[in-house]
Amino acid sequence: MVIDDGHKTSSSTTAAGIVNPITGRSYVKSWMIDTLLPAVKDTYLSFSEVLGAPLYHDRDVKRVLFSVKNENAWLSRYGQQEYQDYMSKDIESYFKSDVIHNQGSVGTVLSGGQLDTRMFLREVRQYLESSNSYLHAQFDHDILEPKTKGISYQNHFADKLIFAEGFAVIHNPFFNYLPFDPVKGEALIIHAPDLKLEHNYRDSIFISPLGHDDYWCGAGYNKQWTDDLPSQLEYDRIAQILAKLIKCDYKIIDHRAGIRPATKTRKPLLGQHPVHKSLYICNGMGAKGTSLAPYICDRFLASLEGEVAFDLDECNIQKYAHLYSLTQ
Ligand SMILES: Cc1cc2nc3c(=O)[nH]c(=O)nc-3n(C[C@H](O)[C@H](O)[C@H](O)COP(=O)(O)OP(=O)(O)OC[C@H]3O[C@@H](n4cnc5c(N)ncnc54)[C@H](O)[C@@H]3O)c2cc1C
Repeated sequence: MVIDDGHKTSSSTTAAGIVNPITGRSYVKSWMIDTLLPAVKDTYLSFSEVLGAPLYHDRDVKRVLFSVKNENAWLSRYGQQEYQDYMSKDIESYFKSDVIHNQGSVGTVLSGGQLDTRMFLREVRQYLESSNSYLHAQFDHDILEPKTKGISYQNHFADKLIFAEGFAVIHNPFFNYLPFDPVKGEALIIHAPDLKLEHNYRDSIFISPLGHDDYWCGAGYNKQWTDDLPSQLEYDRIAQILAKLIKCDYKIIDHRAGIRPATKTRKPLLGQHPVHKSLYICNGMGAKGTSLAPYICDRFLASLEGEVAFDLDECNIQKYAHLYSLTQ
């Protein structure tokens, strides 16, 4: 049974859903990417097949290299054998310069992809509804009764309850002792019929195709947020970047904001509550839920079913049990 409030505070509905194996200023491989990528493809392609919807697309990332120093850093990374499946050897000088103002040359991050997160959530919800496994409601922590074995909540009884509330975990009295560090981000959606971009394009912001000539453009990282609403400041910032970057006609058609469930350790947080043994958490996917969730959640669920031990120590909340006792 899934209980959700209709994505009231969802990060996923704002996300671009990009899977980007190479990140950061020095072009490093994302944490565990060799292990995560096969699970990404397996999972989303299986969901696409079962749900009959094109949820996932292979999509490289065209990354702008702003200087000769960037180009050298790129080429030097490419020189490392373990990077060659993820980076192009060649650097392009004029990438789509008819419609984009190139601010440098462009390297290609290979093996990337993109999940249509909104379609994914819609299709999964319909599937759950059709099997009476979805409840559209606000979960009220105050009326939850954790018992020695199992839980009872209104007229529901379960062996286990897994909280997957995104950044709203900060309001969850059972798990808000964990080291979360949520980060706000905002994106503009544009309609640009002449842009004809098939890749993700990474300048100072991402421009990412959504289909039907719409593009996702964003997003900032704001730790000092006070709400999860779209702000004029970010609208203006992204709009100004777009005005410099895109040569063809376009129209801004939407503005979205969300808060990433990031953590101080920059790793997901999963595991069993230190006292209430029927309560679990599956959270902390930060800025990379699309690539992390398939593998990490699968390992976690397999451990709940008793198939394997949950062996991802970096993500296991066990080590924070002392913090919970401090809050009691
Ligand atoms: C601007 C932006 C861009 C991003 N781009 C990318 C990207 O390109 N690639 C990537 O991998 N990640 C990206 N992310 C990060 C990504 O969104 C997260 O990693 C991921 O979506 C987290 O998923 P989640 O299910 O853990 O949390 P959420 O998507 O936040 O889902 C939590 C759900 O729980 C519900 N909920 C919370 N509390 C309650 C309650 N009490 N009762 C009922 N329901 C409740 C919420 O409404 C929501 O539906 C981006 C995030 C932002 C903000």
